[in-house]
Amino acid sequence: MGDVRHERTLIFIKPDGVQRGLVGEVLRRFERAGLKVVGLKMVHAKPDFLEKHYPNNEDFLRTLGGKTQEAFAAAGLDVKQQTGSDDPLTIGRAVRGWLIDYVSSSPVVAFVLDGIQAVGTARKIVGDTLPFRAAPGTIRGDFSIDSPTVANLQRRPVRNMIHASGTVDEAEFEIKMWFRPEELFAYRRVDETLIQGE
Ligand code: GDP
Repeated sequence: MGDVRHERTLIFIKPDGVQRGLVGEVLRRFERAGLKVVGLKMVHAKPDFLEKHYPNNEDFLRTLGGKTQEAFAAAGLDVKQQTGSDDPLTIGRAVRGWLIDYVSSSPVVAFVLDGIQAVGTARKIVGDTLPFRAAPGTIRGDFSIDSPTVANLQRRPVRNMIHASGTVDEAEFEIKMWFRPEELFAYRRVDETLIQGE
């Protein structure tokens, strides 16, 4: 089975998911797909910690700012009038600030999932960043109708319930940040045998 890409990914249920009592529902969706929970905890993250989680690098900020700019334009709103800037980097910095404030405002539930192509599979189950675009059957598509237009006008991040690492490298970095080695566990799920053999 040398071609099987065994990966780990970092997920956390954001304050909106925890406060709506959807922790069990979210876990159920990953577990039933065959992803194995290998670490799990509730954390009230501090702003300093989230500063590291949401990288201050220009690529991330420009992408985030660009998406926000598009959302304003799609709603027929003047981005400069609304945010004071039309520079994606500056807007990205603002959204990152809203995210850090929001995620540090109340406890989240963080966990690590392990499985074949766990990073991409988890993102598929989570759905598109913007809930109105997320397909039915995904977590964001089924449980949120938040829109970037409303969120941007209220100066807050889109409430899409959940974070899931975007790439294998990001996952490795985030798992090291959120979990100590002794908080991660190795065991065999019974259904692994069906897919990977004895
Ligand atoms: P994700 O990987 O799907 O969570 O998406 P990103 O890394 O691009 O964005 C991080 C988070 O920022 C998202 O989960 C949203 O909570 C928030 N966000 C993304 N785009 C926008 C936007 O256009 N406006 C606002 N207000 N928040 C956004």
